[in-house]
Amino acid sequence: MSRFWSDVVKGLKPYVPGEQPRLANLVKLNTNENPYGPSPRALDAIRAATGESLRLYPDPNAEQLKLAIGKYHGVGAQNVFVGNGSDEVLAHIFLGLLKQAQPILFPDISYSFYPVYCGLYQVAFETIPLADDFSIQVDAYTKPNGGIIFPNPNAPTGCLVSLADIERLLKSNQDSVVVIDEAYVDFGGESAIPLTAKFPNLLVVQTLSKSRSLAGLRVGFAVGHTDLIEALERVKNSFNSYPLDRLAIAGAVAAFEDREYFEKTCEAVIATRERLTGELNALGFEVLPSKANFIFARHPQHDAEESALALRQRSIIVRHFKLPRIEQFLRITVGTDEQCAALVTALREILRA
Ligand SMILES: *Cc1c(COP(=O)(O)O)cnc(C)c1O
Repeated sequence: MSRFWSDVVKGLKPYVPGEQPRLANLVKLNTNENPYGPSPRALDAIRAATGESLRLYPDPNAEQLKLAIGKYHGVGAQNVFVGNGSDEVLAHIFLGLLKQAQPILFPDISYSFYPVYCGLYQVAFETIPLADDFSIQVDAYTKPNGGIIFPNPNAPTGCLVSLADIERLLKSNQDSVVVIDEAYVDFGGESAIPLTAKFPNLLVVQTLSKSRSLAGLRVGFAVGHTDLIEALERVKNSFNSYPLDRLAIAGAVAAFEDREYFEKTCEAVIATRERLTGELNALGFEVLPSKANFIFARHPQHDAEESALALRQRSIIVRHFKLPRIEQFLRITVGTDEQCAALVTALREILRA
C-alpha cells in the first residue's frame, strides 16, 4: 500500500491465475491449457506475419478475424467483437453492459474473475447458490437484476446447462443482458450463439485459449446483437485501439480456417476426459459430470489440499481452491493420455499411503 495509490487501487483484490512454473518434466494440469499444440496452419500464418509489416499498426478493427469468426458461427462480422483474450472482452462487458443500477447475478461457485471485475468497475453483484449437485439452476435467476453472467460449462465444476434451459432463462429475463461465457463449450456443449438472433439481450463470449490451444496468443471474442457489440466497441476505442496485434489476427484467422485439426484435438481431449473420469471413479473419487477440458473431483476419505501437495511433490500440478463448498475438490485439466496416466498412478500411490 502506498500513499500514491488511488482509492480504487487500494480496494482491489486482483485475480490470481494458476501458476506457470518453469520446471522441466512437469505434468501441468492446473490452468486448462490444451495438451495438443495449436493448428500447424495457425503457426504457419503467424510465421508468415512476422516481418517488415510489423512496423505498421494492425487493423484496429481486426475485420479479417471478425469475418472468419462470423463465417464459422453463421453470424455477420458486425455481430462480433474481438479482444485480447476473453478476459479483456469480459472486462469491457462489465464496464459497458453490466454496470447498472441493479446488482448483477452470477453463481456462488463460478469463474473467480467475475467478482474481481466487479471490484475494478464498482459493479454491484449478488451470487446465486448452485444446487446441491453443483449444477446451475436457471430458474433461481428470477430477481430483478442489472445482468446475468455464468460460464457454460461452468468453471470450475465443468457442469453444463442445456440450451433449452438457457432459452427459458432468456424468455423470463428480457430486460437485462445475459452473458454466457463459453470458454469450454467446444468440449461437449452446444453454443448459445444461434440464440443471439432471437434474443437481443444475449451476449456469448468465447476464447481461442482452450479448444484452439492458443492461450499464449491472447484472443477472445463476443457474439451478439449489434447494439451490444457497439457498447463494447465504444469501451474498446476508449481504452486501446489495437488490442489484437498482427500475429494474433493472422494466427486466429488461420485457426478458424483449420476446422479439421480443431475437431480432431477436441475429440481427443473428450475421449481422454471420459477415460480419466472412469479411472478416478475406480479410485473412489466422485467426479462431477464434465463437458469441459477439466474435471472437478473429490475423494470422500482424502483431503484435497493434502492430495494436491502430494501430487506436487511428484511434479504434477492441479488446481485447488480454498473456498467454501469446494475446498475438498481438485480441478484437474485433461492432458494427454500419458499425462493422465501419470496422474492416476500418482494418485493411486497417494491414496495407498
Ligand atoms: C480461461 C477462461 C477465460 C479466459 O480466457 P482467455 O481468453 O485466455 O482470457 C474466461 N472465462 C472462463 C470461464 C475461463 O475459464
